[in-house]
Amino acid sequence: MSVDHPLMLPIKDIIIENERVKTFVFDYNFYVQPGQFCMIWIPGIDEKPFGIVKRDGFEFMITVAAVGDATKALHKMKLGDHIGFRGPYGSSFSMPEKKSFSILTG
Ligand SMILES: Cc1cc2nc3c(=O)[nH]c(=O)nc-3n(C[C@H](O)[C@H](O)[C@H](O)COP(=O)(O)OP(=O)(O)OC[C@H]3O[C@@H](n4cnc5c(N)ncnc54)[C@H](O)[C@@H]3O)c2cc1C
Repeated sequence: MSVDHPLMLPIKDIIIENERVKTFVFDYNFYVQPGQFCMIWIPGIDEKPFGIVKRDGFEFMITVAAVGDATKALHKMKLGDHIGFRGPYGSSFSMPEKKSFSILTG
């Protein structure tokens, strides 16, 4: 089931991936499948879609490249600042079964 009204969530952790990309971690437990996305509202700025990554049962993350007004504003936010969350949305795909590969075959 998805949340259709923005749920205000505090930023729990920020991981700096590189000078243009940050990962934002939130505490919220919901069912999500590979390929789905959420809408993140940056208060006073805009609402934008981002892919969802589950870190464990209670945490999810979004990894954001700062490219325009909304994503640059998100990059300026600090631990404890609140964003609005809606989702998850979109279709999903199944993960293939684990297979072992060898680069030495041939
Ligand atoms: C379903 C969906 C899932 C998405 N998931 C992610 C995600 O997981 N992480 C993420 O960082 N973005 C993701 N995006 C894109 C994200 O929504 C954009 O980063 C966002 O729209 C940029 O908003 P902005 O207001 O900061 O910049 P805008 O004003 O919208 O764009 C500024 C400029 O940057 C360009 N631009 C927009 N996005 C990118 C980009 N990712 N890379 C390079 N140039 C870009 C635009 O064409 C424009 O020229 C997703 C988009 C969709 C539709």
